[in-house]
Amino acid sequence: MTTDTATLLRAAVFAARAHAGQTRKGAAAEPYVNHVLEVAEILATHGAPQAAIIAGLLHDTVEDTEVTPAELAEAFGAEVAGIVAEATDDKTLAKETRKALQVSQAPKKTDAAKQLKLADKTSNLRAMMLSPPRNWDHARRCEYVGWAGRVAAGLKGVNPALDQLFEQTYREAIAHLAAHE
Ligand code: ZN
Repeated sequence: MTTDTATLLRAAVFAARAHAGQTRKGAAAEPYVNHVLEVAEILATHGAPQAAIIAGLLHDTVEDTEVTPAELAEAFGAEVAGIVAEATDDKTLAKETRKALQVSQAPKKTDAAKQLKLADKTSNLRAMMLSPPRNWDHARRCEYVGWAGRVAAGLKGVNPALDQLFEQTYREAIAHLAAHE
């Protein structure tokens, strides 16, 4: 696959269009695309492979927009589409089932998908601290951070720099929760 800046920017534009009108759950209501840009930036900064960075930009399109896996494969190739598929929850399942599956399936993912999911959880923990959803009480935030830590446990061991970033972010999130009861 092409590993150039043009492909990255094409994926960023594709994601921005696919997520147009969507906002993050947090009080700041940031455009949703900010999240996928952050995930890709985390991956790029921590030495993840190019296919994982591009998949980082696209990782929520199949789950949260009208984009299909076939469209992704057509536009960005089978490798990127495969990584996105690994990072996509089955929305026909109940939320609690999906959350349990993320924990149990994490160790079985490919190395690229593990890195992507770890960057995703890092971005989500940051959002939890900076702009938590208004309707989430303290208990729900604690539950979320604990669950993210359980998923991450199955994703570590591929990229030490990403592992370390998640660990640091997780500790900050725990400290943040303790300070904002
Ligand atoms: Zn995400």
